[in-house]
Amino acid sequence: RTSSHLVGLIGTGVGPSLTPAMHMAEGRAQGLDYVYRPIDLAALDIAPDRIGEVLGWARALGFDAVNVTHPCKQIVLRHLDRIDPVAQQLGAVNTVLFTDDGTVGHNTDTTGFAHGFTEGLPDADLDTVVLIGAGGAGTAVADALLRLGCRHLTVVDLDVDRASSLARELTQRHPAAQVDASSFDKLSVLLPDSDGVVHATPTGMAEHPGVAFDPALLHPDLWVADIVYRPLDTEMLQAAHAAGCRTLDGGRMAVHQAVDAFALITGISPDADRMSRHFRQT
Ligand code: NAD
Repeated sequence: RTSSHLVGLIGTGVGPSLTPAMHMAEGRAQGLDYVYRPIDLAALDIAPDRIGEVLGWARALGFDAVNVTHPCKQIVLRHLDRIDPVAQQLGAVNTVLFTDDGTVGHNTDTTGFAHGFTEGLPDADLDTVVLIGAGGAGTAVADALLRLGCRHLTVVDLDVDRASSLARELTQRHPAAQVDASSFDKLSVLLPDSDGVVHATPTGMAEHPGVAFDPALLHPDLWVADIVYRPLDTEMLQAAHAAGCRTLDGGRMAVHQAVDAFALITGISPDADRMSRHFRQT
């Protein structure tokens, strides 16, 4: 099959993203004419609330699809003709397909976390899980955990109101599960009785070093997932290894959001292991 694909990544500060190179390498390996370019709204001096216009331009200029990232994942929804039910439920879209029937939005952050989780922590117990970080990434992770069958999720954030409102929204979306918000000082009570913890704040990145909570609370019966992927081996994951925990690094989500987007864009299931090797080499 011969086919060409022109894809963009729209957001602010997308220049250093590893996603374009990962897509292009997989496109080459699949024998496709596949071009994926960052479109940095900050560098172009375009306000994020003009995302609807930008989508129109991209479509008119021949793009087949775009990934949409910070800070446009929520505002983009009102500019789409159709939205996949999982993305609609989440209220965030990161992949837009320009089809003959109009623009269609999907969210591969949440499906990507779920696929990465199933791959990297197979058979992990999901009964009782703590999520630290109730921002955009934390929301995508929370929905993924609840779709995977988590029965009791506790959301913790420095911003207590944000944790509470996410917990309320999740309860509405997933009435069969028990979702609560809690404060940081309760982690010493929560973590000893939890099956797993997912960290979804920027802590652990070069600009925000450290661990978001006291690593002495880690214990060998807890699986530990990080979504920070720069670096891959965060201080939290090092502490988790030392404590004997099963771990999942942020690279899994980063790779699988691209795997799922590539499949939606091309209709071809990419080689996830090859995309992962590419990501981990760069
Ligand atoms: P965000 O700003 O929307 O949310 C971050 C949340 O963390 C906020 O609610 C904030 O109050 C909270 N927070 C900050 N510092 C904290 C701390 N020390 N303790 C507790 N809570 C704290 O950001 P986001 O878009 O959700 O991204 C969060 C992180 O996830 C970033 O590091 C980003 O790089 C990473 N991320 C990874 C992937 C992936 O594919 N692996 C995808 C998206 C985002």
